Amino acid sequence: MTKNIIVAGSINIDLVYAVPHIVKEGETIHSTKHDLFFGGKGANQAVTAGQLGADVKFVGSVGADDHGIRAKENMERKGVNTEAISSQGATGQAIIQLSDVGENSIVLFPGANFLVTPEQIKESKGIFETSDILLLQLEIPIEAVEQAAKLAYENGTKIILNPAPARDIPNSLLQKVSILTPNETELELLTGIAADSEENLRKACHVMLEKGVNAVVVTLGSKGAFYMTSEESGFVAAQVAEAVDTTGAGDSFNGALAVALCHEDSLIEAITYATIVAAFVVTRMGAQPDIPKEFIR
Ligand code: ATP
Repeated sequence: MTKNIIVAGSINIDLVYAVPHIVKEGETIHSTKHDLFFGGKGANQAVTAGQLGADVKFVGSVGADDHGIRAKENMERKGVNTEAISSQGATGQAIIQLSDVGENSIVLFPGANFLVTPEQIKESKGIFETSDILLLQLEIPIEAVEQAAKLAYENGTKIILNPAPARDIPNSLLQKVSILTPNETELELLTGIAADSEENLRKACHVMLEKGVNAVVVTLGSKGAFYMTSEESGFVAAQVAEAVDTTGAGDSFNGALAVALCHEDSLIEAITYATIVAAFVVTRMGAQPDIPKEFIR
């Protein structure tokens, strides 16, 4: 049976410019190559889940502009229902300079993502009633994230919160979360504990469990992931991969985790599946590569 996932979050266009060096104040330089990638944490997670066979509905906002039309078309193509995406303002953009020596600098323009309101989320109440999982990140206003969590919680829908980009999170929101999925930096910001040893990693996860989340899954880049619930904890190793671009590794991990949990996999099985999908994604350029059918659940 197809499983229903709602993603409430951000949609961006990533404009990448290859440059000889990062532009300095007052300087004008020529870019030698330009690429447009589809991005935004919400969209990245949604298209991963969509490509893995889930029925995915997206709540969010793009601009009333060409980028917005293209971003929505891309999401539809990758299995995401875009009916609850509104058009207002200008589409969110990340303007990325990539230098010859691999340095980058990014200007992030949130645009329409910051125009998502709790009222817009409430208007999509109907789709929360039929969903198995709500997947959230922190690139739309926190009030909108809280409203989505409230609707899901009232329906008994499992909530996965990827607390990225890092910021403080109200306890009232954490208490509704089934699985919190920080990376090490985000976990440190949330707890004040640097995950520089297994002992500290465990301490930090404990802090989050005490704040009310049911499970913590910490992504550790090429080291894989660590999980903790009140009953069990442990590491799941990353799959070996020839990484060419790790942008969006965490997003594909979250999208795949949601899909596996919809199929009632155990937490460890779901994390293992997520590491397999993320290991594929890091071998391709961009945060939303085509995922082969063999990964479908
Ligand atoms: P991003 O912000 O770029 O989306 P992140 O910091 O949220 O990334 P990471 O912890 O870097 O997320 O990676 C998420 C998951 O992707 C890891 O738990 C791991 O399973 C997989 N992964 C990341 N890097 C590699 C790699 N080099 N090789 C294999 N798997 C990787």
